[in-house]
Amino acid sequence: MQPSTLSTPTLHQDTGRHHALVIGASIGGLLAARALADHYQQVTVLERDIFPAAGEHRKGVPQARHAHALLPSGREALEAFFPGLSEELVAQRAVLGDSMQNVVRFISGSYHRRFRSGTQTLYVSRPRLEAQIRLRLLALPNVQAIENCNVLGVTATPDNSQVTGVRLVRRSVGDTEEVMQADLVVDASGRGSHGQDWLQALGYAIPEAEQVKIDIGYASRVYERTAGEAQDAYSLLITTGPPNRRLGVMLAMEDNRWQVTLAGYLGDHPPTDPAGFLAFAKTLPTLDIYNVIRDAKPLSEPLPAKYPASTRHYYERLTRFPTGYLPFGDAICSFNPIYGQGMSVAALEAMVLRQCLAQEDQALASRFFAAVGHLLDIPWTIAVGNDLRFPEVVGKRSPVKPLIDWYLVKLHRAAQHDPAVVQAFGKVASLRASPKTLLHPRVAWRVLLGNLRSPARPRP
Ligand SMILES: Cc1cc2nc3c(=O)[nH]c(=O)nc-3n(C[C@H](O)[C@H](O)[C@H](O)COP(=O)(O)OP(=O)(O)OC[C@H]3O[C@@H](n4cnc5c(N)ncnc54)[C@H](O)[C@@H]3O)c2cc1C
Repeated sequence: MQPSTLSTPTLHQDTGRHHALVIGASIGGLLAARALADHYQQVTVLERDIFPAAGEHRKGVPQARHAHALLPSGREALEAFFPGLSEELVAQRAVLGDSMQNVVRFISGSYHRRFRSGTQTLYVSRPRLEAQIRLRLLALPNVQAIENCNVLGVTATPDNSQVTGVRLVRRSVGDTEEVMQADLVVDASGRGSHGQDWLQALGYAIPEAEQVKIDIGYASRVYERTAGEAQDAYSLLITTGPPNRRLGVMLAMEDNRWQVTLAGYLGDHPPTDPAGFLAFAKTLPTLDIYNVIRDAKPLSEPLPAKYPASTRHYYERLTRFPTGYLPFGDAICSFNPIYGQGMSVAALEAMVLRQCLAQEDQALASRFFAAVGHLLDIPWTIAVGNDLRFPEVVGKRSPVKPLIDWYLVKLHRAAQHDPAVVQAFGKVASLRASPKTLLHPRVAWRVLLGNLRSPARPRP
């Protein structure tokens, strides 16, 4: 059957930027749409799922049932796009806490010192955050979303040099294939994006990819949170390193709840029966999480997730690419989730897109890919560098890697006492500074001093 053609939205003036389409209304797609809204007369977001009530889960983002940390850099980018977003979420009983004071971090055998930093972290469930971003986005007069809409592929000019729209099925209407035209299609359909198949079908090479297999397994359960539990922390991160493959994260969420996620590398996955879940928590390097959940009221059953590999696609290395099409978010790079980077990277990528759109469309894709490649270097180095500490993880290791790993253990030890070391680490973990800054003599000197002090203390 010939697909029917949906009319493009009304055009006002000929800027060449009439209509932009975004595939996927998860965090990446919503933020890409927000950046596009400043530059296109009309932006349409196409989502396969039906949007649930605020705070409810949906099928297309199963990861939302697991701990989702929002880094301070990501929150700032969200605020730049949607001023007042954090306050709106706090009014919906989300929690704002100091990024250093209200956090228990046990890394590589040491508790980081806690102190008031003045930087705030937002603790909110992933579905609630997504719902509020969607609400704010769709309040913009030139943005619309079509839910229950499955994108099947892209359309292109006869010479395939330009993507001209998408083929889609609006399930609410039936199973008839339609075409929606656009000047730009942004593919934010996630790790499972078919974008590369579409590019190949148009005669383009697919980008080189790097994959680092980690075979990490999650199990997550929600508990009731009572005030003052967990030493007034809103976030607990308990992790060590090889040979220990286990870690745990506990994050406050709105409505006095904890999202507890236990995880294990390289097949050492946590069980999903309640007794096994608790027993796994007891085997973590410290008992901070176990001590809370042992007595807390569970509000859900433990649910599993598997994450086989971090994957980065190097679009910036391509020499030939069609105009009118950009992959975005997890479709470009998805990281081992334990570092809590994906949403914040998507927010920073949306800032990059906005900057790229501030110039004319010439070489938009290559400018965007170059800037995103630069942006991704930091989170990719953090995630992969840390994962490669496990000898079983296959990947390229520099000859100085053992020395760096040794130094980082010492750095965490110094972080027990020295706020400056904690700050330096926090800046890197929240993507504000390159991992290289941790080797700067200013930091290294403090690491040395910190290790001349008393031996590791067991409690913060
Ligand atoms: C277990 C787990 C834990 C994580 N924890 C964290 C964390 O702590 N912090 C953090 O920042 N990030 C975390 N992430 C990553 C984070 O969820 C993603 O980086 C973030 O959602 C941005 O991804 P995205 O929007 O690019 O893609 P996705 O979130 O995968 O969304 C893709 C969207 O596209 C839609 N879609 C797909 N195909 C089509 C189609 N053909 N037509 C129409 N719509 C389509 C889907 O329904 C979905 O809505 C975690 C990920 C996992 C797997």
